[in-house]
Amino acid sequence: TREDISTPRRTKEIIQRHGFAFKKSLGQNFLIDQNILNKIVTAAGLDKTKGALEIGPGIGALTEKLAQEAEKVVAVEIDQRLLPILEEVLAPYPQIHVVHGDVLKLDLKALFAAEFDNVSGVSVVANLPYYVTTPILMKLLEEKLPLEHIVVMIQKEVAERMAAAPGGKDYGSLSIAVQYYSVPELICTVPHSVFIPQPNVESAVIRLSVRKTPPVTVEDEAFFFQVVQASFAQRRKTISNNLKSRFFPSEGRERLEQLLEAAGIAPSRRAETLSLEEFATLSNTLLQAGL
Ligand code: SAM
Repeated sequence: TREDISTPRRTKEIIQRHGFAFKKSLGQNFLIDQNILNKIVTAAGLDKTKGALEIGPGIGALTEKLAQEAEKVVAVEIDQRLLPILEEVLAPYPQIHVVHGDVLKLDLKALFAAEFDNVSGVSVVANLPYYVTTPILMKLLEEKLPLEHIVVMIQKEVAERMAAAPGGKDYGSLSIAVQYYSVPELICTVPHSVFIPQPNVESAVIRLSVRKTPPVTVEDEAFFFQVVQASFAQRRKTISNNLKSRFFPSEGRERLEQLLEAAGIAPSRRAETLSLEEFATLSNTLLQAGL
């Protein structure tokens, strides 16, 4: 049997033989550490009835491990130069389908219908390109794809914001969006030495277990997220001041403060102290008041 793609020696050999030059602009930092790769794959809880969607296979380090655990792997890669390399190194794994494209532009619903009709569940597993982490994760969550888990390597600071509880500086609209759709869990932090080339930021693996139904009842999701955004517009300001600028710019403060009180929220609080439940009550109250 061949040496794993992800060993430092084989990775270097593949890159040199193909004359591949890393593109920083595409977030190309490849994994060369067996331990981390195994941790990522284990966290996804795959088995031979499951499918995996990988975003950005690079030269296939993680893709190969996914193929050993899952029934079907679809890997979406934007960089055309990687396609012949992937075709060569992944040739022993017929259960892998590499798709050329930008994941942000792909019709994922159609891809799921076409590729994953024969599996009992699908998880996203990826070492994400850091320049587009948030748009990719929000797309996966907002499109309400039939996903079990999303296990991803991302910038540590972003992982901390996603998993943050109310009350701290990490808690914000990203925490609320992620926690509305999923249950986040930090799996591990990761040293720079597991990548080539090494990124300039710290990294972590996070698992988002996708919820089947939201944890709160929101009458209008788009409006709920508008209220959350507006509440955090200026973090140092009170919720009352932020909401006034956004929703009542030319009115007095009385009506807004009455609505906040009706939602059980003291107008002097800051957005970072509000739970998901309180934001849901607040947006439902504002909506019912005709906003
Ligand atoms: N999975 C490989 C590994 O762990 O060694 C490579 C991970 S590297 C951090 C990110 C990969 O995502 C690169 O292969 C890059 O070309 C690809 N990529 C960047 N932007 C993308 C996009 N919008 N859609 C799909 N793939 C993208």
